[in-house]
Amino acid sequence: MSTFTVLNPATEQTVATVPSASVEEADAAIARAAAARAGWREVAPGERAALLRAFADAVDAHIEELAGLEVACSGHPVGQARWEAGNVRDVLRYYSAAPERLCGKQIPVPGGVDVTFKEPVGIVGLIVPWNFPMPILGWGVAPALAAGNPVIAKPAERTPLTAIRIGELALEAGLPEGVFQVLPGKGSVVGQRLVDHEAVRKIVFTGSTDVGRQIMAGCARQVKRLTLELGGKSANIVFADADLERAAATAPVAAFDNAGQDCCARSRILVQREVYQRFLELLEPAVKAVAVGDPAREDTEMGPLISAEHRDRVAAYVPDGAPVAFRGSAPDGPGYWYPPTVLAPVRLDDPAYVEEVFGPVVAVVPFEDEAQAVAMANDTPYGLSGSVWTRDVGRAIRVARAVETGNLSVNSHSSVRYWTPFGGFKQSGLGRELGPDALDAFTETKNVFIATEE
Ligand code: NDP
Repeated sequence: MSTFTVLNPATEQTVATVPSASVEEADAAIARAAAARAGWREVAPGERAALLRAFADAVDAHIEELAGLEVACSGHPVGQARWEAGNVRDVLRYYSAAPERLCGKQIPVPGGVDVTFKEPVGIVGLIVPWNFPMPILGWGVAPALAAGNPVIAKPAERTPLTAIRIGELALEAGLPEGVFQVLPGKGSVVGQRLVDHEAVRKIVFTGSTDVGRQIMAGCARQVKRLTLELGGKSANIVFADADLERAAATAPVAAFDNAGQDCCARSRILVQREVYQRFLELLEPAVKAVAVGDPAREDTEMGPLISAEHRDRVAAYVPDGAPVAFRGSAPDGPGYWYPPTVLAPVRLDDPAYVEEVFGPVVAVVPFEDEAQAVAMANDTPYGLSGSVWTRDVGRAIRVARAVETGNLSVNSHSSVRYWTPFGGFKQSGLGRELGPDALDAFTETKNVFIATEE
């Protein structure tokens, strides 16, 4: 049996050794899901809702345990990890209201009655990345189960522990065997099998744009349903009339949350030229104040990067001689640490400005006017997130509409809430998660005409 070793990124110590599933084990899991499919679909809506609420309660009763696992496995600060476990509970509760509200339509037609049904799509394969192991799992599992589908989740190799525990909690809460399975293994083995197996009817993938493209091509062979949440290179646009103090105070969270390993990271800060210097002066103390260190401490705001390999990748964006304006701190010694780093001024063809760094590196560049700000924000193949800072309401709306991304915040650093839609434009993805419409991604509309004429 092959295994993989989970390392604590803050200490480089082994946390656990986890079996890595083979193709045959993936096929066995798919067979169990297929056997559970009809039964889960037929569970009465109210009962399915009650099971999801029981699942949410089980997660709620284990928030500390789950947070502790994420601290050890992913290096997330404990306060953040608690929030992430709570997010799984909240998303399960939100979608527990769905089974009793999966309403079809009655459409007027001559000669009979026309009704539509929202049918479950079938077995869902959920491929989860390492950056937010719990929330991204919950965003797929909750609506998929609510809509009546069995789910097989493949966590990332580096961060499988919380997913495995959440899978156990689902069983303890009473979900029938085979309805929700967690199958740790390699993306190229288990992930690929979920894509290739004909019994799996839908893939939900979050991760890199390159792997997303391969998965899309794989799904095309069977016209398999697909939701993709991919990379980002989002802009934080600060106009001269903005509340500069607030914009600068929150810019570090927007860029360095989860050590910048966040597809929504606002890793390009575009600042109107007349306030550019002033903004940098305000940003410097905010960046230096970010508490980087032991993720188990309550006051830690930023932990380590996920791996040594990933730290090398991030560091390559800041070679010797890079235009580092200022930096925060990072501990010495074991752990994959990298300090919050601000680049300014940067060339617009600098890879750190153009590519998704997925680490705590942000570039600050000036712009002249609204048209240039929008053009610069859109000058990327990505379109996931972003922020606009201005006191001019008309401009806030104009710019928010003109920036080609799926999630924007105005005068705020954050735009993700489980009851509002989340997803990308352009190469940042396909489809939407969260919010009321996410159920559509896990159901097929069936249209039935019933003749009433004699
Ligand atoms: P990947 O896209 O490689 O991995 C994401 C998930 O997909 C993992 O579970 C992985 O498994 C799985 N996977 C990998 N290859 C396949 C395949 N052929 N078929 C099916 N599933 C597969 O991301 P990385 O972890 O390599 O991160 C690389 C970069 O991707 C980051 O630096 C960042 O830029 C971006 N990224 C973006 C994320 C986002 O939230 N949008 C999340 C994570 C990464 P395994 O664990 O075995 O690799």
